[in-house]
Amino acid sequence: MPKNNKCVYFFGGGKAEGKASMRDLLGGKGAGLHEMTRIGVPVPPGFTITTDVCRYYHARGRYPRGLEMDVSQALKRLEKQIGKRFGDANEPLLVSVRSGARESMPGMMDTVLNLGLDDQTLQGLIRQTQDPRFAYDTYRRFVHMYSDVVLGVKVRDETQVNVFEQIIEQKKRDRGFRSDTELTGDDLKEIVGRYKGAVKAKTGEDFPDDPVAQLWGAIGAVFRSWNNDRAVAYRELYHIPDEWGTAVNIQAMVFGNLGKACATGVAFTRDPSTGEKKFYGEFLVNAQGEDVVAGVRTPRAIVELKGLMPKPYAQLKRVCRTLEKHYGDVQDIEFTIEDNNLWMLQTRSAKRTGFAAVRVAVDMVDEKIITKKEALLRIEADHLNQLLRPVFDRYDKQKAALEQRVLIKGLPAGPGAATGRIVFHAENAVEWTRNGERVILCRIETSPDDIRGMEVAEGILTARGGMTSHAALVARQMGKVCVAGCEALHIDYATRVMRVNGTTLNEGDWISVDGSTGEVIKGEIQTRQSEVLEAILQSNGPACKSPLYRQYSKLMKWADAFRRLGVRTNTDQPDQAKVARAFGAEGIGLCRTEHMFFQGDRIQAVREMILADDEVGRRKALAKLLPMQKEDFKAILEIMGDLPVAIRTLDPPLHEFLPSREEEILELAHVMSVPLESLRDKVKILQEFNPMLGHRGCRLGISYPEITEMQARAIFEAACELRQEGKRPFPEVMIPLVGSREEFAAQKNIVQSVAEETMKVYGVKIRFLIGTMIELPRACLVADEIAQEAEFFSFGTNDLTQTCLGLSRDDAGKFLPTYVLDGLLPEDPFVSVDQEGVGTLMKIAVQKGRRARKNLEIGICGEHGGDPKSIHFCHRIGLDYVSCSPYRIAIAKLAAAQASLLKLE
Ligand code: ADP
Ligand code: MG
Ligand code: MG
Repeated sequence: MPKNNKCVYFFGGGKAEGKASMRDLLGGKGAGLHEMTRIGVPVPPGFTITTDVCRYYHARGRYPRGLEMDVSQALKRLEKQIGKRFGDANEPLLVSVRSGARESMPGMMDTVLNLGLDDQTLQGLIRQTQDPRFAYDTYRRFVHMYSDVVLGVKVRDETQVNVFEQIIEQKKRDRGFRSDTELTGDDLKEIVGRYKGAVKAKTGEDFPDDPVAQLWGAIGAVFRSWNNDRAVAYRELYHIPDEWGTAVNIQAMVFGNLGKACATGVAFTRDPSTGEKKFYGEFLVNAQGEDVVAGVRTPRAIVELKGLMPKPYAQLKRVCRTLEKHYGDVQDIEFTIEDNNLWMLQTRSAKRTGFAAVRVAVDMVDEKIITKKEALLRIEADHLNQLLRPVFDRYDKQKAALEQRVLIKGLPAGPGAATGRIVFHAENAVEWTRNGERVILCRIETSPDDIRGMEVAEGILTARGGMTSHAALVARQMGKVCVAGCEALHIDYATRVMRVNGTTLNEGDWISVDGSTGEVIKGEIQTRQSEVLEAILQSNGPACKSPLYRQYSKLMKWADAFRRLGVRTNTDQPDQAKVARAFGAEGIGLCRTEHMFFQGDRIQAVREMILADDEVGRRKALAKLLPMQKEDFKAILEIMGDLPVAIRTLDPPLHEFLPSREEEILELAHVMSVPLESLRDKVKILQEFNPMLGHRGCRLGISYPEITEMQARAIFEAACELRQEGKRPFPEVMIPLVGSREEFAAQKNIVQSVAEETMKVYGVKIRFLIGTMIELPRACLVADEIAQEAEFFSFGTNDLTQTCLGLSRDDAGKFLPTYVLDGLLPEDPFVSVDQEGVGTLMKIAVQKGRRARKNLEIGICGEHGGDPKSIHFCHRIGLDYVSCSPYRIAIAKLAAAQASLLKLE
């Protein structure tokens, strides 16, 4: 850490040393507290210890010199502002010690409330408030949190029972109470005693009594919580760098548990599931922060606050409007009301579903809160997927209703349809899905320890907790289907059974959850197309009236206006080509010809060609294939109109077309009436040690020019026939696995002469290009040479990644995940372009290629063409287009627009 760096930033009394833009240093929560203070929103004063200190602490195992002094000075300043003293026996100042990283990591790290209490200051608190019940309630909360967070007393045992909660539950049962609010001061006093007993039993030591020691204990614990298991797991999942660290916020307590005129709550300025513009949230009267989220009591809807506490409610609504305007985004807020006074404790941009993201972005443009550019940047491109995902088939669901299979209705916390088998533990969810099962994770409530299970589950179902519970929050962020707060659901983790309204369900039973309506249904339910997908596919159909579709298409229009990259699709099927056009594909970036070889009885002709002994035999078999390939190309070229269609000549090694098992060989020998021996020999000859680097790609066309010739003829005859019919087809013939100019030139000559010959025969001229895949490192390095012959390049990043990293995609599964987990690789290079390595080769190829041929068209057709991060990279290095699967076109377009807007030139 640089010398003289400021470690502590103060906020309070309308002034703040930090601001919104300092989130790297102060964390998101800290920056929000400072910013709210600045703009006059009521925030309890406090101070933030920077993330620099966290990094320092983890690197050196101690605090920077001077931190102690800084903290003690800030604490003095705080005491002065509040008019109470920390550790004072008469009027003690209590504080919260709160974690907060650059990006919010809901519930992953630790927070301690009500710090500053011991047996002495407790008496002061009682005298000061004249409310022993409140004081003991506050104390027991403190002992609970401090033990958990700082002393590391495991509050949950193997059966997932929370020891402290058990003590409370026991007391409630003894007294015949239903809610913790009924507990009296004496009850709570006794509970505190039992808590401390439990701590002593577990740690062998007395609960610490000195407030200053407690404070430093909590600060250290918060810093250390950056490295707890769940925080580490969360960072892995969301690719958050370990170096960021967390800040610590120390803030004067305000009390939502000081009686009936007090409350605590969380809210969203708009509905985070649907994006609807309505104030949305939950609160509890006479309670403290975490109660709402943890599902201790079921919270009440925010609208009820209006009647209960009109003044702070009105204030809250005003603050929400202020914050939305100020930040230009939907806010997720935490607040507390103490004696009818509102205090804001947190604000951040709300995590939302893809549905909500689209609606909010478009609405906010209409409301003139943000610009179109901001709207486009606001949406996570991958989230568009949610709009296209299947929903339950209406009839199948009605049938389920008639059969009385609807078990219960909970809160629709994460929209969408999910069907799967019941599991109760996150570990089982992981295990079962690894075995190919679809699962629904059913929990009483979820906790941050469950995220890995939530990630793999189709859907999440909880018995407790509201729309802002952990389950709901995380589900929305992950885009998972979620139904929360099904009160009548009784889950027994020990026996792995759940009961609901007289029905018993076991682990492994099928269940369906509708995250848009909250229904939970026994058994499996058929799914069908979403309304947005339906509207896209049948332009002008009735589904196009759907409001969501209208918002979606508005957004796509804006994306089209801002993006520079073209977006094509990878397909070899006519019906998929239609889908792609409906999505607005601007061409085909990769049409594989070998897939066509497998259809129907074509494989027969292909095998004949492979088994032929000489060119004459091969030509005879190829002649059978010609009309079939021609029909395929014609269909696709016709659908794509005058858009470019890049057709790749034969790529895979020939053995892929022959059987490998003895009985199949036997059968084939019979069918083709060839001697078994010679067939066996042929299969053997074709076997390769390293097929990925073997006789494939253009090497086949070099060995057997007649194959390339036939394919070229099929392409150009198809195109010429369409031209004769008045259409304007635009084929681009693409040669795979080229490594040198000579190789390419040899293939190009074949294609070129077939093209000329065919056009002459048909008496038409068609527009066409001959180019190459760039998928070998050598091709990148000699791209200038190749570009003298090739009219276009298309990066085949799957092979380029394999050959650049020397990493077989088919074998990498054994070790690659560990590489990513251990941080040896930032990401799976087959998912997102390895920018340092493969990316450098790509840059070289672009530079050299364009130097040799100014108007060289360059695209990417590898799997990476649909990955937003890779798309940004492609934009940056100046490609002309990306190509991806039809259903990722919308994502690619949005990502391309975002790349332009971020000025990644
Ligand atoms: P998390 O990051 O897990 O949400 P927070 O630091 O936001 O943890 O704390 C959780 C809750 O504790 C807050 O939502 C708020 O209700 C309560 N809380 C935190 N600080 C204070 C405070 N100074 N006064 C009153 N309540 C607080
Ligand atoms: Mg929390
Ligand atoms: Mg919070």
